[in-house]
Parts: sequence; structure tokens; C-alpha cells
Amino acid sequence: MKVLVTGGAGYVGSHAVRALVDAGHEVLVLDNLCAGHARAVDRRARLIVGDVGDSALTGSLMARERFDAVMHFAAYIEVGESVKDPLKFYDNNVGNTVRLLMQMQRHDIRRMVFSSTCALYGIPERTPISEDVPRRPESPYARVKLAVEWALADSCAAWGLGFAALRYFNAAGASAAADIGEDHDPETHLIPNVLKVALGQKDAVMLFGTDYDTPDGTCIRDYIHVEDLADAHVRALAALKPGEQRHYNTGTGHGASVREVIDAARAVTGHPIPVRECPRRAGDVPRLFADAGLIRAELGWTPRFTNLRDIVASAWKWHSTHPLGFNDRAAKSAS
Ligand code: UDP
Repeated sequence: MKVLVTGGAGYVGSHAVRALVDAGHEVLVLDNLCAGHARAVDRRARLIVGDVGDSALTGSLMARERFDAVMHFAAYIEVGESVKDPLKFYDNNVGNTVRLLMQMQRHDIRRMVFSSTCALYGIPERTPISEDVPRRPESPYARVKLAVEWALADSCAAWGLGFAALRYFNAAGASAAADIGEDHDPETHLIPNVLKVALGQKDAVMLFGTDYDTPDGTCIRDYIHVEDLADAHVRALAALKPGEQRHYNTGTGHGASVREVIDAARAVTGHPIPVRECPRRAGDVPRLFADAGLIRAELGWTPRFTNLRDIVASAWKWHSTHPLGFNDRAAKSAS
């Protein structure tokens, strides 16, 4: 298929781009590079630097290229920022998606795979979380993702859009070749921040909350390897038909606590990784892990990475060879 990938220079998007071209698809990436990295885009894909909300641009690309499908990753991702500046998120993540969808409707492109999030379950009624757990988003970030899911569902009913919303748990790790990986600024995620300590870029990892109602008092998350996530996108695209909607929780089904992640990183890096115990971070939920039975059953998707230490080792391979992410000297000289 010929696929337009928005946000394909970002962390999950760039891994999906590679998986798509590996699977034989033709890919055009549209990314404004506000957070993505041109270097992260597989050389077999084309990159257009531009904005998803630029309807003249997306319209002309769609008229010229005749895409079969859109994979939509482009979005702001930082929950804390969404609380401080919600309209920025509604404008970019909802408004621009609506503009993209209008162009898709106009050019009769009726397949979309969308990056959604497990955050839209809020404090889940039960774990493991299946897709029918009530959606009770707690942050503007999560509400905005849910709003897009509604726009997709209404488009499905009205003009036959087919969509798959992949509700990610915690994306982690890097490509097997360790040439693309996670590089956010600022970095808020646990695993990269733990590994920055092992790299000597931070003195200690801040551990947000030790008094949760969990076995070791720290939050439990479901860390899903980014290549497994990418594979889920490729499978969703292959299965998707115009006029149908699919929602899938994409996680391993196994939870790991913050302390378990830090212990795994100590084992992988051989570094003691000092910890600074801090108060809870606003908005954190004690326990999130997926019931991924539906995506397994319908798409035959099985994560290859089920062991936390392997996931952390994969991230370490990337961070230790690219201590400054895509801007480091090794990356520059390799290009
Ligand atoms: N966390 C932490 N220190 C950090 C970053 C995160 O203790 O420097 C905790 C955070 O409070 C949460 C878990 O690690 O309980 C996962 O956080 P992350 O930001 O990676 O993902 P989220 O689940 O918030 O999307």
C-alpha cells in the first residue's frame, strides 16, 4: 500500500515507518520536525517537512500521491504540558486531525491507523485493562486522544472511514540495530531517565511516589517494545477495511513497577543507579497493564519482547551508543 505517515520522524512513528517499508509498503512521511528527527526517518521513505494542519499541503499530497491509507502519529505528547496549556493540545491534536480527516474525506482515503493511548481509561475500573473498560480520561492529553477517537468513529459512520485506534501502553526500547530510538526534549519517561543516570548525565533518578497501593509502593506500568508496537500498526493496516472501526489495547499484559524497572537497568548497565524518592507526580495512576487478548485474537499480534530486562537492554543499546540522541557526534559522522 501507499501510506502517508504523519509524525513519522518521532519515536513510535519512525519505528513504524521502518516496519512498513520492511513489509513492502511505500511510505511518505509528513512531519514538521518540532519534536521529530529527520535522521530517524528510514532512507527508503520520503520525508516532507510540513504540518498536518496545512490543508493545502495535505490536500495536494493526497491528490498527487493517491495514498491508500494514513498512519497518524503527529501529536503533542506531554501530559504535564497539556494540563498547563490545554488549548494548544486541542488545537494541534484535535484541530489538525480534523483538518487531516477533511482532506482524507475529500480525496476518498478511507483507512487510518491512529496512535491512541491507555491514558483514556484514567484510573481503570479494573486491570488488566480490556477495551470495554469505561473511558474516563483524567488529563487534557487523554481527553484530546478520546476526542479524536470520537471524530474517527463519527467519520466511520458518516463517510465510511475505516480506522484502528491503537491504545498504547508504555512504549520502550529501540530498534534492533540501535540506530533509531527514543529522543525527547524534555525527556519525562522513566526508562530514558533511568539510563541517563547510568550514562552519568544525571546524579540520580527521581522516583515519583513510593506509597501507592502496589506490592513495592511504586507505580506499575506495561512496557511494550517499540518494535512490537510498530508491528501492531503494520498488522492493523493489513486487516483494516473501509467502514469498520477497531480499538486495540497494545501492551504485553505484564506490569512492572518503577523499582523493578530501576533494578532491571542496574542489571543491564552494571551501574548502581542511585534513586531520589520524591512525592507522587500529579496524575499518575497506580496500576496500568493491558489485556491484549483482542489484538492477539484479531490480528495474531504477539509481542516478541515480554521480558523487562530485554526491553531495558534494547533501550540501553541505543542510549549508550547515542548519549545525546540524534544530535550526538556518532550519529552525525554516520550520516
Ligand atoms: N517515573 C519516575 N521517574 C521519572 C519518570 C517517571 O518515577 O523520572 C514514574 C512515573 O511516575 C510513572 C512511571 O514512572 O509511575 C512511568 O512514567 P512514564 O512517564 O515513563 O510513563 P507514563 O506511564 O506516565 O505514560
